Amino acid sequence: MPPKIDPHIVHLPATIPFVAPERMERDSGRQFIARLGANEGNFGCSPLAIDAISRAASNNVGNYCDPECFELREVLSEKLNTQMENIVIGPGIDGILGMIVRIFSSSGDTIVTSLGAYPTFNYHVAGYDRILHTVPYREDHEDLAALSEAANALKPAIVYLSNPDNPMGTYWPNIDIVKFMNSLPESTLLILDEAYGETAPEGTLPPIELNRENVLRLRTFSKAYGLAGLRCGYGIGHKNLIAPFDKIRDHFGVNIVAQSAAIAALRDDQWLKQNVDNIEAARIRISEIASRNNLQPIVSASNFVTIDCGQDERYAMEILNGLTEQGIFVRKPMAPVLDRCIRISAGRPEELDAFESALVATLKVLSHS
Ligand SMILES: *Cc1c(COP(=O)(O)O)cnc(C)c1O
Repeated sequence: MPPKIDPHIVHLPATIPFVAPERMERDSGRQFIARLGANEGNFGCSPLAIDAISRAASNNVGNYCDPECFELREVLSEKLNTQMENIVIGPGIDGILGMIVRIFSSSGDTIVTSLGAYPTFNYHVAGYDRILHTVPYREDHEDLAALSEAANALKPAIVYLSNPDNPMGTYWPNIDIVKFMNSLPESTLLILDEAYGETAPEGTLPPIELNRENVLRLRTFSKAYGLAGLRCGYGIGHKNLIAPFDKIRDHFGVNIVAQSAAIAALRDDQWLKQNVDNIEAARIRISEIASRNNLQPIVSASNFVTIDCGQDERYAMEILNGLTEQGIFVRKPMAPVLDRCIRISAGRPEELDAFESALVATLKVLSHS
């Protein structure tokens, strides 16, 4: 008899949340010329972070990292005006999401999210054998009223909300988010995923209220800080929500290079501001390219712009395929109604030039077919 595999794992579909551009390049035998599909750091990262990475590389990669991420939590708690006990560091939000599902729900529990929202969360929900209940978007926004209604009817273990949202890039102002928090059952944990918090307009992020025992906020160095490859994110919440992570997390899971770079990045507000400006300029440019080609850009608070292609899912997929064939890596929402769109990450001017030419060429071919 071969070793036993847990029956739940045996029956899981072999899905991965995202097919990587590297995989697509291997399959096609061709390199992408612009990487605009994964909302990455196309403008690089802070030079202070690069210094910290090289220093860590030459001085101490031979050592284990600080398993308590003490200094990073110290810098973050000063910045956020919290205590260190209110912060957990993890290998990106993606890694933290898995731990949250494991800690705050049990096998068979119901978990609520929006239909078409961040797939890595759903991946963990399936992986831990919880039941996902989805609520449709409304006018390309996550529907706070419907999510609240579902939460109050089903009393789920967890509700997941991303603000600003991925894949649509839309957002709710903080007053609406606070109202939403207040409307949830006490026993339901709200995961408020703020991966794009830094690129959102002022007044999007609610104040941090550490007396709430059912709200866990998530942030990352992957998007506005341009450090996606390092895998470092954090959660902010009441100490009773943070403490259980120490019982299950991989204590050396946020490596020494990532910790050093994150600390340095937090000390470079000037670079962050510059990057947020670059992202905003790219959003404007992407929107202009869309409009000029008679497609409808959706107003975005994130580091990408989602474009309504104006027809059905098949048409959006044809545009995406056309772009892919011309070496432009982009992605699109997959859930009904949202799937009429494609999603373009903020990129450097020359990458957006390449996107524009490929889009024009693709639409020309489609208009003749
Ligand atoms: C990109 C993204 C993440 C992933 O963050 P990591 O810290 O790189 O794991 C999480 N949530 C949302 C909504 C995202 O778009």
